[in-house]
Amino acid sequence: MPAPRNLVELEADVARDLALTAHPRMPWLVQKTVGSMPCLDVLVIGGGQCGLAVAHALKRDQVHNILVLDRAEYGREGPWTTYGRMKNLRSWKDQTGPDLRQPSLTYEAWHEASFGQAHWDAMRWIPKESWNDYLLWFRRVTAIPVRNGVAAGTITPARTDDDLPALRIETSDGPMHARKVVLATGQEGVGGWWMPPHIAALPREHRAHTNEMIDFAALHGKTVAVLGAGASAFDNAAVALEEGAAEVHIFCRRAEPMIVQPYRWLTFAGFLRHIGEMPNEWRWRFMAHILGLREGFAQDHYDRVMRFPNLRFHVGVPWEDARMQDGRVVLTTPRGDFSADYCIAGTGVRMDAALCPELSACQANIAQWRHRYTPPAEEADERLGHFPYLNADSAFTEQRPGETPWIADIDLFGIGTTMSFGPAGSSINAMAIAAPRLAAGVTRGLFAADMPRLYADLRAYDLAQVTLDEARSAAE
Ligand SMILES: Cc1cc2nc3c(=O)[nH]c(=O)nc-3n(C[C@H](O)[C@H](O)[C@H](O)COP(=O)(O)OP(=O)(O)OC[C@H]3O[C@@H](n4cnc5c(N)ncnc54)[C@H](O)[C@@H]3O)c2cc1C
Repeated sequence: MPAPRNLVELEADVARDLALTAHPRMPWLVQKTVGSMPCLDVLVIGGGQCGLAVAHALKRDQVHNILVLDRAEYGREGPWTTYGRMKNLRSWKDQTGPDLRQPSLTYEAWHEASFGQAHWDAMRWIPKESWNDYLLWFRRVTAIPVRNGVAAGTITPARTDDDLPALRIETSDGPMHARKVVLATGQEGVGGWWMPPHIAALPREHRAHTNEMIDFAALHGKTVAVLGAGASAFDNAAVALEEGAAEVHIFCRRAEPMIVQPYRWLTFAGFLRHIGEMPNEWRWRFMAHILGLREGFAQDHYDRVMRFPNLRFHVGVPWEDARMQDGRVVLTTPRGDFSADYCIAGTGVRMDAALCPELSACQANIAQWRHRYTPPAEEADERLGHFPYLNADSAFTEQRPGETPWIADIDLFGIGTTMSFGPAGSSINAMAIAAPRLAAGVTRGLFAADMPRLYADLRAYDLAQVTLDEARSAAE
């Protein structure tokens, strides 16, 4: 079948596909209030790809009283046009994602309609700017209500006027209420970007994390040291080289750089859909192995830096300490001291709910994996023990039951779900499975809390579907 020739045609297809697959169409939620103020059914915090995907899944289930908040300006959500310094996505170009497997909503359909089939065929990887444009298009054609430039803060418990559990969310636009909150706040969702304490202690003008805005032009002619051998470390090294750094040195702690991509192995339906349903020991075993390997860099990332003769790749050389000396950073390594003008930590994120303002009222009672499961010594990993231990609905669970029961109405969709569900919310390849699952967790809670009202509705249901002939069916 020929693909739509342009976006106008594609958007007509999108509307038609949404209408054709809208079953079950019946609205089932009623507007609730808190102190006479409107209460959302769901507030999604974060309008990146995860927030959009789950909002789309909720709308498909006739949950329309929703709002997505993002503190970023329109078009600046997530890493794609901000701190992401790769040229292309590392995901395969033909993966499904927020489209939830609706053909007309896929990236491929959008790309072909925007640039033509030949362009799609010739393209190897999706440019990150195109992915961002696609997400903005996706959000428009699915009519997801997003409010940009609004930051969410502390979440606390509330009750609706008909006495159902609800949440109050402080925001930069004033307080809001919702029956459920989905936290789709990205890599920092339940923690923060992390760098070794001795690097964090250096003056800010001499160090940065890969997620920060870095004035690369100022590194022209300088010696730059990058810690880590993941994709982001390579991307930052590449930009420094492209901006004219005199030397760039990438330091990889491991004896062997990671050239295998474990996320490729796990991209099959059995794992993506069911790992989260397996016993703790198996979830831990699989995810500890995968997260222990870390995400490797791709060939493109490697080639991008290797074409520069002034790039050195130091393998098996961790940074043990760091200090300032004569205006330069001196890094202590097992091979001796190394001097640089600037260092960049490509050291990812760490789970620590205490860093998240949204969770300030409950973080001390969020159950983590270390509270629920002790792995055998050979599988132990202190870092992974800090991931939240989520319930089957992707909601937080309590460390001490009864102290903050309302956290069962906060669902997480992002990298913090990884120990509980595999790469559920943090990558595109899992999204078509993970977003509907999370939405189902939300709708389960909305349904369960409102059962008495729904039962009363059922008992009052009197919509006749047959008109009886009164004369011929008179009671004997
Ligand atoms: C550099 C980089 C490259 C990546 N490349 C790929 C790739 O190629 N393929 C892949 O599958 N994955 C990739 N990932 C992993 C993952 O897909 C991305 O991190 C992706 O952006 C995750 O989507 P998200 O919606 O969870 O988070 P984000 O896209 O980060 O969106 C979160 C949003 O939440 C908003 N927010 C946060 N806190 C608040 C608050 N309190 N109030 C309001 N708004 C808030 C932020 O402004 C942000 O827009 C990459 C990650 C990085 C960092």
